[in-house]
Amino acid sequence: MENNAIRFGCNGCGVCCKGRLIPLTLYETRQWLKRGHEVAILLEAFDELNWSSNEQELAHAKGRAVEVICGDASIHVIAVFAGNALNSCQNLDANNLCGIYDERPLVCRIYPAEINPFITLDPASKICPPEVWDDGEVLFTDRIIDPILENQIERSRKADREDARAKIALCEILGLNVAAWKGNALTVYLLDREQLLDAFAVYDTLLRASQVRTDWKVRVDTPVLRQKLKQFGVELDGQEGADYVFHPL
Ligand code: SF4
Ligand code: SF4
Repeated sequence: MENNAIRFGCNGCGVCCKGRLIPLTLYETRQWLKRGHEVAILLEAFDELNWSSNEQELAHAKGRAVEVICGDASIHVIAVFAGNALNSCQNLDANNLCGIYDERPLVCRIYPAEINPFITLDPASKICPPEVWDDGEVLFTDRIIDPILENQIERSRKADREDARAKIALCEILGLNVAAWKGNALTVYLLDREQLLDAFAVYDTLLRASQVRTDWKVRVDTPVLRQKLKQFGVELDGQEGADYVFHPL
């Protein structure tokens, strides 16, 4: 029987630590802020009526999302908190080494494996140089997965589910209420660090997720999708005066 193996040996090139946003759990976000670093928040929305993938993927997405009011509709919003490494991760030292290696976020431990269970690991789609796939440890075969990696992926998925409500509550405290439509675009809020620390303080001392209520909006620039969502009563945001970056996919 065939048993295709994917081998991987990180060469420490540091390419994955530059030019990107690093998704964080809520706990990791607090640590990131305490180290003095910046965090961005990415928002995406969906609803069940307009869901085009299968039921399993819908259940997975709903597990990471919170149901909110948006105009006359009820939609689900996923908030991703991410360390801002759009230039270079602030933890990367002059020798291209991670300065917080023992405490690095789960996502850094998991990369280049996939966290989303519906995406198959494809070396060609990763930014790692080609030679790192030739040898090293076996990450996956058709039948087994490295157990440490498996545990880290499961912890990451669990945190995604458990943190969802608190992340949306923090967005509402911050007044961030515009999400893009899942698969179409992302709204990206590049936050001031102090602002987010203040929001955590409010969340910790005064509020719990169930007490926060905000009316949400969706930003869609594609005319056909805009029209469709409008018919479902989804409140749409305009293009003017946006305090977020709109990033079409
Ligand atoms: S925390 Fe470390 S491993 Fe993760 S992106 Fe930053 S420098 Fe790279
Ligand atoms: S890009 Fe790939 S090979 Fe380079 S440091 Fe990141 S995980 Fe390792």
